Amino acid sequence: MNYHKYYPTDVINGPGTRVTLFVSGCEHLCKGCYNQTTWDPRAGHLFDQQMQDQVIADLKDTRIKRRGLSLSGGDPLHPQNLNSILELVKRVKNECPDKDIWLWTGYMYGELSAPQQAVAEYVDILIDGKFEQSLADPSLRWRGSSNQIVRDLSDKNQIQILEIDE
Ligand code: SF4
Repeated sequence: MNYHKYYPTDVINGPGTRVTLFVSGCEHLCKGCYNQTTWDPRAGHLFDQQMQDQVIADLKDTRIKRRGLSLSGGDPLHPQNLNSILELVKRVKNECPDKDIWLWTGYMYGELSAPQQAVAEYVDILIDGKFEQSLADPSLRWRGSSNQIVRDLSDKNQIQILEIDE
């Protein structure tokens, strides 16, 4: 997997202070996409073992306490990203169990493939759906257009849609 940007301290993408990774690779090609340079899975930099270790180290850092990890892009659930993302989210939940994982994807939760579902098992909050320019609304919280849905997956027996716009 390649990544586009890594922010070890981020207060924009999700609640609280977070670690945020924007991965490369997206096949949704939404009109009006804010991040077209991430579409090519070969763009950006290789997400290697050293980077994975860095994410874990930043989440464990007690000097700046992070609430969790945000995964965006690009699309973390792009088929070419799934192995690396699964490895990462498993490691986060094993080594940093008090941290939450937020993930933004253009795929719809109900249509995820089995390998995508395997990643979702480790995700606490999933924001799904393509960006629809005609439904774009800058006042929305954590999403760009009103068709996108914020789902709380933290209890897999009781998945909830969150209404969190102010
Ligand atoms: S899913 Fe996100 S990154 Fe992919 S094209 Fe749509 S807005 Fe851009």
